[in-house]
Amino acid sequence: MTIDNGWYTEECREHGSAFSLKLKDKVYQEQSPYQLIEIYETESFGTLMTLDGLVMLTDRDNFIYHEMLTHPALFTHPQPRRVLIIGGGDCGTLREVLKHRQVQLAVLVEIDERVTRVAERFFPELCEGNSDPRARFHFQDGIRWAADAVDGTYDVIIVDSTDPVGPAAGLYAEGFYRHCYRALDSNGILVAQSESPLYHPQLIKSMHVTMATAGFQDIASLHFPQCTYPSGWWSATLACKDAPVSAFRETDAAAAALSTRYYSHLTHRGAMALPPFLQRAIAGTGA
Ligand code: SAM
Repeated sequence: MTIDNGWYTEECREHGSAFSLKLKDKVYQEQSPYQLIEIYETESFGTLMTLDGLVMLTDRDNFIYHEMLTHPALFTHPQPRRVLIIGGGDCGTLREVLKHRQVQLAVLVEIDERVTRVAERFFPELCEGNSDPRARFHFQDGIRWAADAVDGTYDVIIVDSTDPVGPAAGLYAEGFYRHCYRALDSNGILVAQSESPLYHPQLIKSMHVTMATAGFQDIASLHFPQCTYPSGWWSATLACKDAPVSAFRETDAAAAALSTRYYSHLTHRGAMALPPFLQRAIAGTGA
């Protein structure tokens, strides 16, 4: 990451590209035990949070990521009551989960409590569900949490993690997916952020293979725009224990009126339509 002449620039060196935001000011910085947390005010994207110099979220576009990581999975499960979020310390995913009235318990397991405390201060609207009696917070390693979970505890597990490096690397591994499989009830659904369809199709493919090896019956990815992440295009990958992930509660999604800005039953359906190059990459039949 560089700051030059008031422009924050995050380079994606392996793909020879970069993304910039015009800054107004840097408003906060803290080195937590896990990562460098920085907060900026930008000219046109509102507040920006970075972790170790990488964009995590901005006021302007985080709704797309948080809604598309949450609602497709919750409208695929027949009755999502108990939800586990691993990572997601900015609390935006938690806020979306709590929009579902059937949800009785939403457990957020974030390794770095400071991310949540900083989000509470600089992104209060994302944290508006934090005092909901259905929400529980545990500040510890999500890999450990999944390993210790009792069989069949959750209906949906959402992995809202950083990139597959450092403490998040194990969140993309077979051992972790096996624990998620075990911790899910019989109709359970796992959904994980799965990076850029354009830049990381091999990661998406390897997530499909690894989730299948861990026991999941049906696996599908969906995609959505995210202009502040590398390539401007992002994905989430869903895995079901026994039901097909392409069938979702479309009528419920249409009727729900959840106060979403990107998610609808139509964007859900559209997001599941994968471009041919990505279908081929996932099938291992070319690019
Ligand atoms: N949407 C973001 C993105 O894709 O860039 C992710 C945002 S969210 C803030 C990611 C969170 O995952 C971070 O706060 C990080 O501390 C947390 N995290 C990383 N590894 C973890 C682990 N092993 N257990 C729990 N949380 C973890």
